Amino acid sequence: MANQDPANRSHALFDQFVQAQTCKEVQRTFSELCQHLQVDPRQYQSFYTKLKESLNYWKAKALWVKLDKRAQHQDYQQGKICARNKCLVLGAGPCGLRTAIELALLGAQVVVLEKRDSFARNNVLHLWPYTICDLRGLAAKMFYGRFCTGALDHVSIRQLQLILLKVALLLGVEVHTRVEFKGFVEPTGTTGWMATVLPDNHPAGKFQFDVFISAGGGAICFRRKELRGKLAIGITCNFINRHTAEEAQVAEISGVARIYNQKFFKDLQTETGIDLENIVYYKDDTHYFVMTAKKKSLLMMGVIKKDFADADQLLAQANVDHEALLRYAHGAAHFSTGRRLPNMTFANNHAGQPDVAMFDFTCMHRSENASLVRERRGKKLLIGLVGDCLVEPFWPLGTGIARGFLAAFDAAWMVRSWGKGKAPLEVLAERESIYQLLSQTTPENISKNYSAFSIDPATRYQHINLKSIKTNQVQQLYDVEDHLDSDSAGAFQELLTWCQQNTAGYDRVNVTDLNQSWASGLALCALIHTFRPHLIDMSSLNESDAVYNNQLAFSILERELGIPPIMSASEMASKGQIDQLSVVLYLTQVQRGFSERTP
Ligand code: FAD
Repeated sequence: MANQDPANRSHALFDQFVQAQTCKEVQRTFSELCQHLQVDPRQYQSFYTKLKESLNYWKAKALWVKLDKRAQHQDYQQGKICARNKCLVLGAGPCGLRTAIELALLGAQVVVLEKRDSFARNNVLHLWPYTICDLRGLAAKMFYGRFCTGALDHVSIRQLQLILLKVALLLGVEVHTRVEFKGFVEPTGTTGWMATVLPDNHPAGKFQFDVFISAGGGAICFRRKELRGKLAIGITCNFINRHTAEEAQVAEISGVARIYNQKFFKDLQTETGIDLENIVYYKDDTHYFVMTAKKKSLLMMGVIKKDFADADQLLAQANVDHEALLRYAHGAAHFSTGRRLPNMTFANNHAGQPDVAMFDFTCMHRSENASLVRERRGKKLLIGLVGDCLVEPFWPLGTGIARGFLAAFDAAWMVRSWGKGKAPLEVLAERESIYQLLSQTTPENISKNYSAFSIDPATRYQHINLKSIKTNQVQQLYDVEDHLDSDSAGAFQELLTWCQQNTAGYDRVNVTDLNQSWASGLALCALIHTFRPHLIDMSSLNESDAVYNNQLAFSILERELGIPPIMSASEMASKGQIDQLSVVLYLTQVQRGFSERTP
């Protein structure tokens, strides 16, 4: 290896990265490739361009063509539109990664946190035609040759995660696995929004962000609506696919529902005792089945031990005979494929056990809102939900990824508006207007011009009104801390009046508040001049030298009054970074200092 031609070595590393089949392998080969090419993914804004320039390899070029085509879309304005935004994404499931890709294309710095260190879900997702088109545009076929080669359109969850992880990394997204998000750390005078993470010394805990996207599956939610239907018990199972000619001949089942094929279900029940509402079979990395089973037959076949009205009690682990569940799932899969699948051996799940699971779909959840803005100490945080934590999908219908990706694009569109500087209430009202459409989307009622789909909702939803929700309807979603109680508001006003009185008449000084008016440093210098005219020559100061003026004032006040600066001169000089509470604290000391020492 050591003597290998450097070009060949980079080609080999690129090939290994493209073909990597586990999350760890993707991360390792990516890091080796970057090290070998001496390109630093932490330089997220220039990373993709530098990687392209360093890797002169025809296979890589085919990939760049695809990604460039996407990146050049007008929505992203060449990555400038969100260049100042910092986004934290919770969860490296398909929806978290898909959103991260869009945010990176918008030019934002993107950090993804994922608590697991492996992508282990064999289960297979149904893809609507637009998602296939979208994933082909991200070079899915290059990363996973079998992508959508079957008669039906689907992909396993883990393969989808691998594809999206690779694309995200290439676009400069930072992905940390085995890091769990635990909550927010509110801004202080000098820091912005941060996260509490586990392990608690992980550097991701230092990342300051102004956008947070939760894609944590069922985990992190706003207030949710519960949609309670009739009892629905889902069973999923996976069998090893050895990719033999015999297996290839067995037909997939895109979904047989009882009402459309009474005979099939009757025969199944008569011959095996298994009674189902529907069944789906996809041939992918594994032979995957998802079915909805009737409670009565699960009780009769001994899968569920005791009957309970409450679904949680009914499906509690202690009330399920796992061996009987394996027999039930095996029997249903065997019968529905005409007993033509040879050697049906269960594939293993992440825990090394036969991959069979039973889930309760009786009660589905949907978040009441898709967005929220929190503001503390003048620092705003935009929060959005995507994927299963926004709307829980009913797996047998395969809506998870289709609606999940729509929400990912909608969230990216929201961040775009945020990056453009739209007012928080307008951003929220627009996002909630779009969210109203999500649960009604079907493959039939979304736009059919898939190749034109972008993060712009008008390219995807047929009848969209971005203003159907008004700003006054989303006020409760803009959560601003009210730090000014009536006492402190009075004290602030008193301080402001004192500052105004003692800076009045100075050229280029106009104090109207306790933050932005102080940016040029001249107001602070004027205050010093009022009380100690010999310490400062106002005529020598230039309004545009804000950092110098602030530094000068800070030094004098420290030397003469013993007041240490509370922020750096450049923070004070930068209008966007001035923290009002820090300025108030500082000026209060200045006021006290001059009052005590002035006869
Ligand atoms: P997920 O894919 O659930 O990803 C969420 C990610 O967030 C996970 O990787 C999780 O580890 C991570 N996470 C959660 N909390 C934290 C935290 N605090 N800190 C860091 N990371 C966190 N759909 C179907 O259509 N058919 C199926 O058969 C099917 N089977 C499924 C089996 C399982 C076990 C699960 C969980 C889901 C299944 N789904 C299935 C749903 C489908 O996986 C989702 O619709 C799809 O993956 C999109 O989900 P997502 O990205 O929103 O969330």
